[in-house]
Amino acid sequence: MELRDKVILVTGSSRGIGKEIALLFAKNGSKVVVNYHISNFEPDADKNAKKVVDQIKKNGSEAIALECDVSKEEQVRRMVEKVIETYKKIDILVNNAGIVYDIPCFKKTIEQWRETLNINLIGTFLCSKYVTKYMKQGRIINISSTNGINSFCPESMDYDASKAGIIILTRDLAKQLAPNILVNSIAPGWVNTNMNKNLPKKVVREEENKIYLKRFAEPEEIAKVALFLASDESSYITGTTIIVDGGYG
Ligand code: NAP
Repeated sequence: MELRDKVILVTGSSRGIGKEIALLFAKNGSKVVVNYHISNFEPDADKNAKKVVDQIKKNGSEAIALECDVSKEEQVRRMVEKVIETYKKIDILVNNAGIVYDIPCFKKTIEQWRETLNINLIGTFLCSKYVTKYMKQGRIINISSTNGINSFCPESMDYDASKAGIIILTRDLAKQLAPNILVNSIAPGWVNTNMNKNLPKKVVREEENKIYLKRFAEPEEIAKVALFLASDESSYITGTTIIVDGGYG
């Protein structure tokens, strides 16, 4: 798919799904902004982001890495301004950054609840708010989750609420930004990333059995859907959420 010279900002793209989105868009000719955030979840985020940028450049495309905690308004404002300073425009925003606390629901602190909502949901809003100051025509792709649609892991109420919020925020934004900006979300099921690295083997086997395709998705398989949603092939799709769960239940 041809996305030559499009400028894309992918939040949380130093690893996991975001990284694969960054690499796939670069392969298709886009200039990529790799956003990362050094935190307790990933103290080596800067090194990871640099590796993604180096890989993109080695393959002949353009990329920069920008640190920003997407839950902090001032940092988001500065990140977006830096993108405009560097590339003069933003064509595509992928709101991918997300966290989950694997802690039983009533053991989660209010601070953990707030952090999850702040990064996953409010971060999506903040990046959309500042990017749309400059994006006259383009695409916003939000990464939700099937957890935002059904109660698969009732322990993760905070995460589920943040992902459900992203689905309605997608619809609201799509209506407000039509017809020049198309806004959609992707709801992945299980994906092979660090987010699931601590799942007990037994749970993985049980969950794989419930998936029609009998395996978790690879992050590249989510990236391909993002590429479709950013391309001319999806010119009549807005306000919707595409479930990518390999068939489940
Ligand atoms: P991951 O490997 O844990 O990656 C999470 C990403 O989010 C990292 O790149 C991280 O960046 C970034 N991030 C976290 N907090 C941030 C903040 N405050 N500011 C900026 N970036 C931040 O998980 P993943 O599976 O790739 O997750 C990507 C998205 O897919 C998330 O929204 C997740 O909820 C969603 N999702 C995942 C699955 C799954 O099964 N894996 C299923 C459905 C939906 P740093 O490393 O730079 O901190």
